[in-house]
Amino acid sequence: MVNIPPFDATCQYQSIAADIEKNICAVMAGGRYIMGPQVKEFEAQFAEYLSCEQVISCNSGTDALHLALRALKIGAGDEVITTPFTFIATTEAIGIVGATPVFVDVDLNTYNIDTDLIESQITERTKAILPVHLYGRPCNMTVIMEIARKYNLKVIEDCAQATGAVWEGKKVGTIGDVGCFSFFPTKNLGCFGDGGAIATSDKVIAERVEYLRRHGGKVKYQHEELGLNSRLDTIQAAVLLVKLQYLDRWNSARVEIANYYINQLANVKGIVLPTMQSGSVWNQFTIRVLDKQRAKVQKFLKEKGIGSMVYYPIPLHLQQVHSNLNYALGSLPISEQLSDEVLSLPMFPELTASAQKVVVESVSQAFFALT
Ligand SMILES: *Cc1c(COP(=O)(O)O)cnc(C)c1O
Repeated sequence: MVNIPPFDATCQYQSIAADIEKNICAVMAGGRYIMGPQVKEFEAQFAEYLSCEQVISCNSGTDALHLALRALKIGAGDEVITTPFTFIATTEAIGIVGATPVFVDVDLNTYNIDTDLIESQITERTKAILPVHLYGRPCNMTVIMEIARKYNLKVIEDCAQATGAVWEGKKVGTIGDVGCFSFFPTKNLGCFGDGGAIATSDKVIAERVEYLRRHGGKVKYQHEELGLNSRLDTIQAAVLLVKLQYLDRWNSARVEIANYYINQLANVKGIVLPTMQSGSVWNQFTIRVLDKQRAKVQKFLKEKGIGSMVYYPIPLHLQQVHSNLNYALGSLPISEQLSDEVLSLPMFPELTASAQKVVVESVSQAFFALT
């Protein structure tokens, strides 16, 4: 039996261990564990990578979303349009600042917010659109920006799964007013713990996030607003400084694996493959398993030693935490369908050719076994 996990952080570490250890040791010896020079250096290099004016790092992707909303002064009484087919952090941040998430269903082919449905949900309380580039696939930012301009809305991009993804020549996270990134270990650019950042070319947003992340005070021990303690650890910045240099190579490796999966699985009946989209960075390779066979397929793969994941089994509009919003079962049918059908196959840059081969053979066998 093989052992192919859905994600493996250790082989990536092995490939760059010497540089990582050197950088971490320098932090330990330097003693500047909070907001050491590596934090600013990483922010500068990541801003250059993205081609935006400023990056402000923070403690997590969730905090990046929270800080972005706070920086835009979105709060009680405001509505934020977003997708129900994402990780809870997206709407958690909206709720925590006191605003209300308004869900727009997703597109069956891209898993991302259906831009044709956005306008019908805009009210006089709508302040922002919060698209999520799910699984590393960029949303249609051209249409989203057109709608935002027409209705004078802010755009906050949730790029947690899409670091390095490109929409029409621009990195995601630099198209809207502010982009929010996560460096959680399984993301395309992951550190060795929690970490996050916002990217913006708007000086006001950058300045506000910069002091909101350190207790809401521009000057030490003077506090204008309630803030957070949300800084990127210097050790994590030191790790990210090494890893950023490899991000494009790793993202290219993901694209190659996606291409291989798409070619090799093209004839398997009973599944729908994700379509190739240029600019996608494939944080996940997620197929749809039709005819309620997902649990069986997942079990078959598990018995073969192949890990797979369901992101996400319950869409956010049906989560208990959002029951006050009163979305009924059936109200956002595509998201509900995807929650029943999606299955993410092993996807990480170091996945070997032989492991990829075992994955596609096993997925094919799973369907052969079912019929
Ligand atoms: C991971 C993730 C987040 C939150 O990031 P953390 O760093 O784990 O807080 C937000 N949105 C999406 C879509 C994510 O996948």
